[in-house]
Amino acid sequence: MTSPLSNFSLDMFSLTGKVAIVTGGATGLGQAYAVALAKAGADLFVVTHGTSWEETRGLIEKEGCRAEFFQADLANREAHKEIIAKCLEVYGKVDILVNNAGTIRRAPLLEYKAEDWDAVMELNLNSLYFLSQEAAKVMVEQKSGKIINIASMLSFQGGKFVPPYTASKHAVAGVTKAFANELAQYGVQINAIAPGYVETANTAPILEDQERKKEITSRIPTGRWATPADLMGAVVFLASPASDYINGHVLAVDGGWLAR
Ligand code: NAP
Repeated sequence: MTSPLSNFSLDMFSLTGKVAIVTGGATGLGQAYAVALAKAGADLFVVTHGTSWEETRGLIEKEGCRAEFFQADLANREAHKEIIAKCLEVYGKVDILVNNAGTIRRAPLLEYKAEDWDAVMELNLNSLYFLSQEAAKVMVEQKSGKIINIASMLSFQGGKFVPPYTASKHAVAGVTKAFANELAQYGVQINAIAPGYVETANTAPILEDQERKKEITSRIPTGRWATPADLMGAVVFLASPASDYINGHVLAVDGGWLAR
């Protein structure tokens, strides 16, 4: 008699034949997610805003995968339907969506401008919600799909000088659970990754402030900041069949920051 345990195989981590959309996928963490998914075998549909995509194309094609790019401002609500329609036109399906694009604007709470609040919430929360909704329509029809939202340590903590960033990232964790609850029955899993402190454009102002950088580093149990490469394993896992029974989870990849 064959044991059901024999069905498990490392092939469950493979993404060969899958199609993945990554927003903000030509720079920083998004580029690392796109390359990780390509290394696992997925073809990519990368959404960019301003960054040139030639370097990212080279990195994806080096893995033997197809790379298509689409320029869009995710703050424009017309863009969400267009992205999914274009991906369907090019590839005929959407297996994975990584909602990575995000922004941060820093100012003291009492001086925080309404337009900055709106801009951060529009990109970090509203665009993630509406793009996920469009992707989910396709995934429910397919009866399979993975949505991976990018949360933050500020999905759990308050932070300072970034009120809408904190509000939006707390909401990302909530939306992840709300989507997961409704869509699990269709074979669609929605989870999130909460990166710790990673060296990218997003954190450049902190990295330039030696004192602040030192203060943060000293609180990280691993004793170092992450690089985008530290996040690559988590995105492949959550995009792959190996995580099919994981729903609505926010996976911290933080060098132990939250465990302190
Ligand atoms: P980043 O280098 O600043 O990346 C931001 C990305 O968002 C870029 O790829 C950018 O695209 C895209 N983007 C910005 N505005 C957009 C718009 N209006 N429409 C479409 N795309 C837009 O920073 P990052 O650190 O890689 O951040 C990626 C994600 O990780 C964000 O959600 C961030 O909150 C999250 N995160 C970062 C850290 C960290 O320590 N770095 C920690 C936790 C969470 P273009 O380059 O094409 O303009």
